[in-house]
Amino acid sequence: MLIKTLQRWLARKPDPKRALSAIPDELWAEVEAGLPFLDDLPAAERPRLRALAVAFLAEKEFYGANGFCLTEHIMLTIALQACLLILKRGLAAYRGWVGVVVYAGEFVVPRSDMDEDGVVHEYDDVIVGEAWQDGPVLLSWFDDAPAGMNVVIHEFAHKLDMAGGGDADGLPPLPAHMSVRQWQSAFSAAYEELCAQVDADEETAIDAYAAEDPAEFFAVASEAFFETPHELRKAFPAVYEQLVLFYGVALGGEGK
Ligand SMILES: [Zn+2]
Repeated sequence: MLIKTLQRWLARKPDPKRALSAIPDELWAEVEAGLPFLDDLPAAERPRLRALAVAFLAEKEFYGANGFCLTEHIMLTIALQACLLILKRGLAAYRGWVGVVVYAGEFVVPRSDMDEDGVVHEYDDVIVGEAWQDGPVLLSWFDDAPAGMNVVIHEFAHKLDMAGGGDADGLPPLPAHMSVRQWQSAFSAAYEELCAQVDADEETAIDAYAAEDPAEFFAVASEAFFETPHELRKAFPAVYEQLVLFYGVALGGEGK
């Protein structure tokens, strides 16, 4: 399998330029066609995104859960999206963990909670993704994901939120040119607005799951930032502006 060979080869002799040319143009084209939001990426950024994706594949370890067969197409699709989030800051942003575990569709995670009387309740949680602190990212793979939903961007946004050992709380470590105060003011106002919409049973501009907590708001807003940027910009312009600064790319340019 091409990517396995590529990973072994890169481990011995890292040369991203040569590795990049090892992936045929047809495969890049096929994978990128499945990610239509990449059409809005400035052409000059495309080679950098591909190079990052190749370095990501070399550094991270992919596992297909429950016998799920990972194809090159799936791994490249995940790598390109994960790297879109770190286009401006590089792979160092994903330091400290290596595993990417992929399930065929939704999966079950056994949980246990202790109630106030000290009784432990065990139950199964059916989820589509989870990012573990200093551990792997778990993802569902959907052949036909619903429009606007992007598990990969969602979970990797959580990973950025947890970078540097912090909790996922909706305030990731910000680049030096950004202001924590401006971030908090943009996000807390938008979060409150969304929660009010959910409470009033109104239609929400981004997935209502974002009302769960500020960490989910950041992850869902990140999905919207790449998948439906114009809607995010219209609903929460200050959040949109913060994400332009944070991700260093804007797929929702003027007039679109
Ligand atoms: Zn989440």
